[in-house]
Amino acid sequence: MDELPLFSQPAKRAKPEPKARTPAKPKPSPHREEKGNFRLDFSRVLGQEKVKKLLSQAILRGRVSKAYLFYGPEGSGKDAMAIELAKALNCQSPTVRPCQTCAACRQIASLNYPDLHFIFAAPKSIKEEDYVKHLARLMENPYQDSAYSSTATISIERIRELKRAAALKRHQRGYQVTIISQADRMTPEAANSLLKLLEEPPPRSVLILTTSRLERLFPTIISRCQVVQFAPLQPEEIREALPQFGASESQAEVVSRLAMGNFRKAREILHEDFETLRKEALELLRVSRSADELTQLSFVEELGGRKDRGKTKELLLLALLWLRDAQLFASAQDRESVREFLYNADKIEEIRDLVQLFQGINLEKTIAETENSIDLIEKNVYINLVLIHLVN
Ligand SMILES: [Zn+2]
Repeated sequence: MDELPLFSQPAKRAKPEPKARTPAKPKPSPHREEKGNFRLDFSRVLGQEKVKKLLSQAILRGRVSKAYLFYGPEGSGKDAMAIELAKALNCQSPTVRPCQTCAACRQIASLNYPDLHFIFAAPKSIKEEDYVKHLARLMENPYQDSAYSSTATISIERIRELKRAAALKRHQRGYQVTIISQADRMTPEAANSLLKLLEEPPPRSVLILTTSRLERLFPTIISRCQVVQFAPLQPEEIREALPQFGASESQAEVVSRLAMGNFRKAREILHEDFETLRKEALELLRVSRSADELTQLSFVEELGGRKDRGKTKELLLLALLWLRDAQLFASAQDRESVREFLYNADKIEEIRDLVQLFQGINLEKTIAETENSIDLIEKNVYINLVLIHLVN
């Protein structure tokens, strides 16, 4: 079947016009089902209470949309929610859905459910076994980046395969669920091809697109979907979840503040280099009190040489938390009683040393300067300059 491109210059699609030339077609009417008597349990997805309520009500009222667009910041749980929704729509439990134990729930979790399709960005040349392996990793931790590589796209071939598969619904019960993760990575040809599917969705099918970059999707695609907005996670929601991934309580406290609502990032910080970065932040503060300018310079050169703005910002945020701890600790009448309010509660000795080191220094002013440095890093000021200013 020939598919007409909707845009004459598909390469320039970064800025959709505010008013699409093609008038928006009405969304397909939702499925009509009997009302459910069971309870929904989306507890495997962090936070997102509004989204959970909206989807639960749609299922319980038997009014599930044929196409959803999950939109929100990275690491907020869009793919995780999509997978749990796929389970809920196919779960056979009479009491709680998804139950995680029935055949459908287990088959979806292990990718053996014929009516579930999960599409992610991958190079055209990817081997089938690598595709399957990557998919398995994603199902294990749906908070990670679903793209196989940073430049990978979703090709028209994948969408064509999907359409062929969509024509074959295997089970009588439940729904065929198709998840297109990071849908903004579809090539223009793939997006045009998908439009057909959106216009004539197969019976008992639900399409879920996820994206953190809504502006990169065709307006014609957005208008065919029910847009469901995901919020950045709250630091408390991240903090509560981290211990099950090996974080101590104080690590969870600090990491949740650094993650900026992004659970993927929280797990990255935790696993990759959190302790190293925390030590370096402390070292930065020590060096800033050093009388030896050469030591200061070489330390700044070393940190600045990495040219990683994100990491430098994390480093300064950690330095800020050390300073706040020192300030609180220094001003406390009873040092034991403030323990629970410290970010680095597991490092009392270090905080004590820091208080000593900053004796006679206006900590409030140092804290303000550190905050200012974080602003400067965000504003793209040369990293070394910011660091030098801070240590002097
Ligand atoms: Zn189940």
